[in-house]
Amino acid sequence: MKEQGISRGKFIGLAGGITLLTFSGPWAKALEVSGIDLVSTPQLRLYYTIRLLKKLVTDIGPRPSGSRAYAKGAKIILQEMKRSLSDVNYDIYDFDYWELLNSSDLIIGGQHIEAVCQKKGLGTPNEGIRGVFIQNSKGFAIIDELSSETLAIFSINQYGKAIAGSPYMELSKPVPVFGLGKQDIPLLERSAQNKLMAFISADVRTSKSKGINVIGRIPGKSKNEILIISHADTIFNTPGANDNTSSVIVMLMLVHAAAVRQNNHTLTFVASDSEEYNYEGAYNYAEDRIADNTLKNIRYVLNFDSLTYGPNLWISSKDQGVKDLIREIHKDLNIDTKPIFDEGDGYVMDSLPFRASGAKALHANSRGYDEKTLPVYHRPDDTADKVPLDCVEISFLVFDEFIRRIDKE
Ligand SMILES: [Zn+2]
Repeated sequence: MKEQGISRGKFIGLAGGITLLTFSGPWAKALEVSGIDLVSTPQLRLYYTIRLLKKLVTDIGPRPSGSRAYAKGAKIILQEMKRSLSDVNYDIYDFDYWELLNSSDLIIGGQHIEAVCQKKGLGTPNEGIRGVFIQNSKGFAIIDELSSETLAIFSINQYGKAIAGSPYMELSKPVPVFGLGKQDIPLLERSAQNKLMAFISADVRTSKSKGINVIGRIPGKSKNEILIISHADTIFNTPGANDNTSSVIVMLMLVHAAAVRQNNHTLTFVASDSEEYNYEGAYNYAEDRIADNTLKNIRYVLNFDSLTYGPNLWISSKDQGVKDLIREIHKDLNIDTKPIFDEGDGYVMDSLPFRASGAKALHANSRGYDEKTLPVYHRPDDTADKVPLDCVEISFLVFDEFIRRIDKE
């Protein structure tokens, strides 16, 4: 379903104030016509990035799919696209909003251990779960003292502190799943050996809501199309500065830069929702495109996810030409970083639903500042100050040039 804009009353509030303060008077008028002045120099791009990181990440915080916070963020993204584009729309679908109302640490023998509930996972009964902490061949669990029935299971984040739990074993009856941090492994192992009593609780709620993609289009001379997608939602417990707000900001800067060009290809920019679940946003938009028989217009799909983990872009594509072009652009623009290439499919996560287009696909992530950036993955401290701003600039330069060059094909 496509909706032209959205009722004003519904989303009033957040976005307007800061914008007006920053760009009042004649500037506001000028920027409504074209946003190119926002991103024409490195200095302006830096300013643009910092300003949007503040509005989306710092001022709003976590923006999980289906939440009011996500809707606020989507409105800001819509307004930003509208600075340069006339064809900007919400693409809305039904989505069951899941929220964690309350949760406890994992408490074993009086020790508090950080634990994070699975996204869209089961909660515990009101009184919490109490049982024996064990380790089996698959991992850690709490089992009932008498029946030995599994009551909760735990997954470990091999990269650092606890992130949302992910299910890893088949159970006849589903149970709550929690994530734990790798630093706690010795304590967990000792607790399991000693068969200590453990407690945990999580209170969750689901309600009917909407998923919201933001779609901006720049008509080209031809209906052949380049589609750029970047997810705008976050996990429930993180403001998602690196994953994936900074990539969305790169995409918005590409919008402003491309809007003033006469492009051969039609350019479509998708700030997608629900990537952190099962890519419902991307699937919904791809279904729209199948329904109106335009999916096959797409010649390129570029999926940006976490472009700021380091200065070395990590490119997955099955297309050798795509990889050669990325390499060539680094050389031509004198960008002294080392792009990483793998044989992985460019159709992954949010680009997956577009596979039937037959387009060339590229998925971009990044590496290089791993010690600073990877530990904050899906953590509450993936905050604006953790975004290495040079990576934003590098991504902008490389992909702006990439789009210019593939547009000539
Ligand atoms: Zn992501």
